[in-house]
Amino acid sequence: MEYRYRKNKKLRFKKKSLAILFLIIAIIIAFVFWITNREGPYEKYYQYDENNKKIGEVQHYQKENEQFFISMYYPKTNIKELNKIINDCWNDYIKDQKANKDSKDILYMDYSIDQVYKQYVNLKLSMNRYNEDDKLVEQSNKLFCYDTKNEKVLTVNDVLRKNYKISLANINGIDNINQDNDNLEIKKDKVVIYTNDKLKEKVEIKYEENKDLIRLANKNIPSNAPLDVKTPTPLPKIDPNKKMIAFTLDDGPHKTNTLRVVEMFEKYNGRATFFQLGKNVQAYPDIVKTVYEHGFEIASHSWDHPDLRKLDTNAVNKQIVDTQNAIFSITGDEPSLIRPPFGAYNDNVKTVVKNNGMQIALWTVDTLDWKLKDANKIKDAIVNNAYDGAVVLIHDIHNFTVDGLEMALAELANKGYQFVTLSTLGEYKELKTVLR
Ligand code: ZN
Repeated sequence: MEYRYRKNKKLRFKKKSLAILFLIIAIIIAFVFWITNREGPYEKYYQYDENNKKIGEVQHYQKENEQFFISMYYPKTNIKELNKIINDCWNDYIKDQKANKDSKDILYMDYSIDQVYKQYVNLKLSMNRYNEDDKLVEQSNKLFCYDTKNEKVLTVNDVLRKNYKISLANINGIDNINQDNDNLEIKKDKVVIYTNDKLKEKVEIKYEENKDLIRLANKNIPSNAPLDVKTPTPLPKIDPNKKMIAFTLDDGPHKTNTLRVVEMFEKYNGRATFFQLGKNVQAYPDIVKTVYEHGFEIASHSWDHPDLRKLDTNAVNKQIVDTQNAIFSITGDEPSLIRPPFGAYNDNVKTVVKNNGMQIALWTVDTLDWKLKDANKIKDAIVNNAYDGAVVLIHDIHNFTVDGLEMALAELANKGYQFVTLSTLGEYKELKTVLR
């Protein structure tokens, strides 16, 4: 019995070591398989350029499926919002590629990132698509600059004053650059704007030589932009299914009425648009700044209220440019809308407005408040003519108008109206008769 027992034990021992041996061999095979797969056909897609990664940590995403081998290098910075934008960028790219091809390709991404004057982070994502023979079949770039102070991706509109097309008419390619283009890089001495995502055609604008044209607000960058303006209070959330109305207040700012109007709208979590005269902007800069910082829209109403049809091109331009400059020097922002005095314009005025990167804005409800001169009558004129999508014209320079407005807002709020700026209204309603 004892002998058999020992023999069994020996046999079991042999079986056990054989199993371990097989296990080790299996692990070695798996390991070799993994190594060759990893660094074999795709070896070069596990490399990236170390020189152009000035901030953040290098992250790597890798995936293989029936359609793709994917290897993406991207940065992780200490800016949460920027990380989200970056992730969305390459995730969208991958989704996009999946939708339109069926052969098995390689998607490879590398990037460059740097930071200028602390405030600006330039990022370039280079996306490359190779076929199975390692041939580059498609190349595209995503380039943008993130403003860490204002927490947004910069567009041409944030970098340059609105009249850049006219001011830079001598630069080749400027006509192809739109206000909402975000293919740009902020460098120490210039901004580089690309006209397409291949990044082949570009326009370079030096700060020093174009000081009057630069909108960027940073103490290291030559510009007339003020550095002490607070980021405006965010616009209230709009319910598109509820009624909305845009009040437009002309001829101000007024030394007491304008800020009273701001408070009245804020009581209902509302906003409005002020069409201001340049000469009054110059007289009350602190009021203009407060209106802007409270998230209200500031638009232009010319410098001193002439009939623009009676002026020559240069004089019309001066009315517009002087007012833009006055508002810009206070807020660092400038109107995109102008209401010509009396709503009067001709083709010449229209052209000058367009050349300044602006749009003409009229109204749909005229209360004739200046003629009524009575708060109750003005209140009735507003309430009785109000409708969903209306653009109401009043003047914040008259006490009786502001008194009437106060009563009108209470009644309209009761009826479920939201009070919005003209630009906000334009996002939800057709304003064909208003915006020209
Ligand atoms: Zn007016």
